[in-house]
Amino acid sequence: MTVRTHTTVAAFRSALVAERHAGRSVGLVPTMGYLHDGHASLIRRSAAECDVTAVTIFVNPTQFGASEDFTRYPRDVDRDTALAEEAGASHLFVPTTDEMYPQGGGLTTVSVRDITEGLEGTSRPTHFAGVATVVTKLFNIAGACRAYFGEKDWQQLLAVRQLVRDLDMPVDVVGCETQREPDGLAMSSRNVYLTPEERRAATVLHRALVAARASPDPETVMKEVVASEPLVELDYAALRDGRLLLAARVGSTRLIDNMEHEL
Ligand code: AMP
Repeated sequence: MTVRTHTTVAAFRSALVAERHAGRSVGLVPTMGYLHDGHASLIRRSAAECDVTAVTIFVNPTQFGASEDFTRYPRDVDRDTALAEEAGASHLFVPTTDEMYPQGGGLTTVSVRDITEGLEGTSRPTHFAGVATVVTKLFNIAGACRAYFGEKDWQQLLAVRQLVRDLDMPVDVVGCETQREPDGLAMSSRNVYLTPEERRAATVLHRALVAARASPDPETVMKEVVASEPLVELDYAALRDGRLLLAARVGSTRLIDNMEHEL
């Protein structure tokens, strides 16, 4: 089946209303595009569990800080369309910034307290308000659905679960396991920024998590392992609610990863 691409809120909303009217369940996979096998695993899972799957591709400016990589974030909608279709998507929503934020944006911001504080919330102070607001908009446009999010963005997944509960949204949030390259590096659209040398060094995030996962002092272990890699500068290494969370800069690229603490 060929995927149908929608560029307006109205067209995407009515396509999904029609699917539900026809008795079909809807799976939603929100992304920023430049799809890789991590995204494909979410799409495949949705296609296995729902009658139709809708993928959204929107590089959301409001979740990037002023000094971050919004303008250079990789984009390739033709390739994404082929990958999404191959993985089982029926609908693609690819709005412009103006379509999502007419007149430069609205006056309403959704914010989730507590969960979004610390870690990514400290390093990227405006990030989660941007995420929570755009996810709320996408859920309101899509309507009742199951929505698939990756565990790779752990704090984001917790925040999205919370906002759906708090705001009574008709959405079942499904968390999906992090997909990795054969050497352990978590798949990410940002991995294309890495030079070959940085790409080799970037495996230290996964190595640090593996070394720490059964340790009684995981934060120290993660810090030591990351410090052994001169090309990598640690942002944070933390244990929070049974989860090990890491962020580091590899050259100009910021990478994150996480894993369950098994102790
Ligand atoms: P992004 O396009 O980076 O905003 O990611 C869109 C969705 O894909 C989010 O729910 C991410 O958590 C998820 N995702 C990104 N990378 C991976 C990965 N390596 N494994 C599983 N899910 C991922």
